[in-house]
Amino acid sequence: MKRSQALFSAIILVLFSTLPWRLDTTAMVRPDITKQAFGMTANQEPVELYTLTTNKLEARIMTYGGILVSLRAPDRNGKLGDIVLGYETLDGYIKNNPYFGAIIGRYGNRIGKGQFSLNHKQYSLPKNNGENTLHGGIKGFDKVIWKAAEVKTRNGVALKLTYTSKDGEEGFPGNLSASVIYTLTDNNELRIDYSATTDKTTVVNLTHHSYFNLAGEGSILQHELMINANRFTPVDAGLIPTGELRSVKGTPMDFTKSTVIGARIDQQYEQLTLGKGYDHNWVLNNRTGRLALAARAYEPGTGRVLEVLTTEPGLQFYSGNFLDGTITGKGGQVYKQRYGFCLETQHFPDSPNKPRFPSTVLKPGQTYKSRTVYKFSVK
Ligand code: BGC
Repeated sequence: MKRSQALFSAIILVLFSTLPWRLDTTAMVRPDITKQAFGMTANQEPVELYTLTTNKLEARIMTYGGILVSLRAPDRNGKLGDIVLGYETLDGYIKNNPYFGAIIGRYGNRIGKGQFSLNHKQYSLPKNNGENTLHGGIKGFDKVIWKAAEVKTRNGVALKLTYTSKDGEEGFPGNLSASVIYTLTDNNELRIDYSATTDKTTVVNLTHHSYFNLAGEGSILQHELMINANRFTPVDAGLIPTGELRSVKGTPMDFTKSTVIGARIDQQYEQLTLGKGYDHNWVLNNRTGRLALAARAYEPGTGRVLEVLTTEPGLQFYSGNFLDGTITGKGGQVYKQRYGFCLETQHFPDSPNKPRFPSTVLKPGQTYKSRTVYKFSVK
């Protein structure tokens, strides 16, 4: 071998051994999507489970509720772990699901007294949360079967889910054609693109309800959280916003600087008492409608970092206060209070009754569009 050839080989060898991906055993996995049967609903409708894989992440999504059944992401040592709460089988989701991993619609979060008016017409919705309507009603988008199709994408692998909600379904006006595209990107992101059209004026507020636990198990109170918001919407005893946009300054709701979730959660602060912890909508500083950083969570034990970017004006941070140890989920884990947290990008709760909040009205001819990115890394 000539000297120049030897030198070239040596350089290549050094380059290969220093590149970080060289050390990552999962690096050679091609973006891929596979499908399998996942059981039947009570009405004998078949449910399918799709597995999306990229070089670092693996997501399993089913057609019932568009539910993200598992999401495996690496820790700082490259070890994959499932970081969302849920069940191993369809049955668990059908029998008792506090919205684990689900698509929420037609209206995410609460509508006060299950009522609103549009064009001088009053609409009544089924009340499924005290005197209010929560997450689209009794049979919301989290409990319907979505049609699934793989879609071609340049930087990852994507699954498109579609569902048509009938005029009058759960009390809402208009036939609403909704689509949700889950993309697992090569940049370690789970991107969710929502869109919807209607044939009658209606209200729409779609979101995603994964309960994250970046440690993969146990309490979430040691996670650190930053929320890019100077204000939040205080609530009444039924968790309906009062209409006020309150500054977070000097309150336990201030996450403008990264703070341990458990540090102030039990403080004597009226809003925390009402929510039994954090269960509020933050008014994001980004009001441009363009994608921007909304929140960042960090779990010191595993080094996992989750960033949430969104085009939405609001973010519901829910600290899993209503989990009470009665659910045994994946791997036999008992989900106790605050064992998972949700970061739900959204328009503000009860907007149909709050004319000063950004509007959730969708008219025929308009297209509702919303994008949220859950981005994973390690520190
Ligand atoms: C709500 C909580 C509710 C939970 C349901 C959250 O989005 O804000 O109040 O209990 O969903 O699991």
